[in-house]
Amino acid sequence: MVVIMTSDATEAQIDDVISRVHRAGGEAFVSRGLHRTIIGLLGDVDEFRSLNLRRMAGVADVIRISTPYKLVSRDQGPERSTVVVGRDATRAGVPIGPDHFTLLAGPCAVESLDQTLESAEMAKAAGATLLRGGAFRPQTLPYAFHGLGKSGLRILAEAGAATGLPVVTEVTEVSDVALVAEHADMLQIGARNMQNFGLLNAVGATRKPVLLKRGIQATIEEWLMAAEYVAQRGNLDIVLCERGIRTFESATPATLDISSVPTVQRLSHLPVLVDPTHASGRRDLVLPLSRAAIAAGADGLLVDIHPDPESALCDGPQALAGPEIRELAAAIRRMAPLVDRQTP
Ligand code: PEP
Repeated sequence: MVVIMTSDATEAQIDDVISRVHRAGGEAFVSRGLHRTIIGLLGDVDEFRSLNLRRMAGVADVIRISTPYKLVSRDQGPERSTVVVGRDATRAGVPIGPDHFTLLAGPCAVESLDQTLESAEMAKAAGATLLRGGAFRPQTLPYAFHGLGKSGLRILAEAGAATGLPVVTEVTEVSDVALVAEHADMLQIGARNMQNFGLLNAVGATRKPVLLKRGIQATIEEWLMAAEYVAQRGNLDIVLCERGIRTFESATPATLDISSVPTVQRLSHLPVLVDPTHASGRRDLVLPLSRAAIAAGADGLLVDIHPDPESALCDGPQALAGPEIRELAAAIRRMAPLVDRQTP
């Protein structure tokens, strides 16, 4: 069951609901979203029904949800959510949600200040409003470049500040969450960590938006249950990212599951992006897959770019250089209005 509080519910009213649930032997998980607070209930549903929660002050609705994920389920309200990244006293932040089409772009790995600054300028010129770059890089091959770590975080933050773009970066270890949250505006959980429950709990306990990539072998339901871990810790600022799944097809590293976009939007209120770069592993496929993502209703794209992909320390073959990112930018400008999306 989920209790949806009114938009003007007070902390005291929220506490009253939680106390009543606790007195009935249940557990209550509070998620404070942008527009409303919702409280997920675990326990005996018949017992909860007898509590008359709907009649309590500050309660807008009480909904029974049959899916295993509750806080991220679309059952809890017809509206899709907008997550705002990088909002503070000086910045309005970047919205990701149903009214916008948001481009996240940057280098797969932060290699140097020059390369990151140049990538950030390219991203901004292409209409990207978020700079995405890797400082901690999980790699299948143990001998591959694993990123610059802490100095990479500083470089990314510096490039973000220089271009005015909020930054998004991956966190791979629970012990690094506080450090990464200090430098980044949004925390990425990569495909390989989608079911790292300790990490999901740790980012859920921060107040930073979370970008949750789909696991390489995860079903949509498993992906949404992973999002539920984050939400259950009180952080409902979650953006999902489809990045392809493992199939029998070997022409690309993963098969982009484009049907997951409308499926997720039917099942969950969370925004969903598409990453055509890691799905395809090939620069020439990024534009066609991006067009498919826009047409399917994705809320944005995440793409790798590099000023000189031939010299990239990781994933050069999939990174877009100047001409390709300009072509992608033009496609977004043309197509986004056709699906009722605003672009910057
Ligand atoms: C990435 O986005 O940098 C990445 C490695 O992608 P994924 O986790 O989807 O493999």
